Amino acid sequence: MDYRQIPPIFVADAPGLDFLNSVATPVDEEVDWISDGAGLLAWLEQAGLVPRNALAAVRAQATPAELDAVAAQARSLREWFRGFVQKRKGRALVARDLRDLAPLNQLLERDEQYGEIAAGTAGSETSFEFRANRRWKSPESLLMPIAELLAKLVCEEDFTYVKACEGPRCTLMFADHTRGHARRWCSMAICGNRAKVAAHRQRLKEQKNG
Ligand SMILES: [Zn+2]
Repeated sequence: MDYRQIPPIFVADAPGLDFLNSVATPVDEEVDWISDGAGLLAWLEQAGLVPRNALAAVRAQATPAELDAVAAQARSLREWFRGFVQKRKGRALVARDLRDLAPLNQLLERDEQYGEIAAGTAGSETSFEFRANRRWKSPESLLMPIAELLAKLVCEEDFTYVKACEGPRCTLMFADHTRGHARRWCSMAICGNRAKVAAHRQRLKEQKNG
């Protein structure tokens, strides 16, 4: 199904997992929001990961084929990282997990971040604030904010509460930040209601038979 017909899903409560959820089956058919270069640019903008002027500059300088190639790299990064998360969700990460993150560290090495002292936002205590910027030299630089999200997920999220939605055909993942860690569904709108309807039908059937 064409990703242009349906908005991307941001329900994970952890941006690194939202990236894994950039391919999903929200209704019947699989939708991949980063299936081509234009899709990747749109998803990065909707996720708020790349400033609009930087996206416009990359779009103006790169050919569609170059952008499609970066989208393909993003998809292989996504599927490699999905394997890492699926194998470890439900338990805290341990030191030996670091070995398997070598490909991500190699990607992070290519990042061209730089800091900037900028005027502080109105209402803040100090006059200046430290801002992180990034050089967007090549289409590949679009992978850098994604790599940063994945690294932050690994460093800051407790994998004990990284979960896969219980919907039978759902592939969405999320970080369960609820107080009792009782979250089961990607979202009520996608799978929660589906489960409620199924349970209701089952009860009706039992009443009829009983
Ligand atoms: Zn779901």
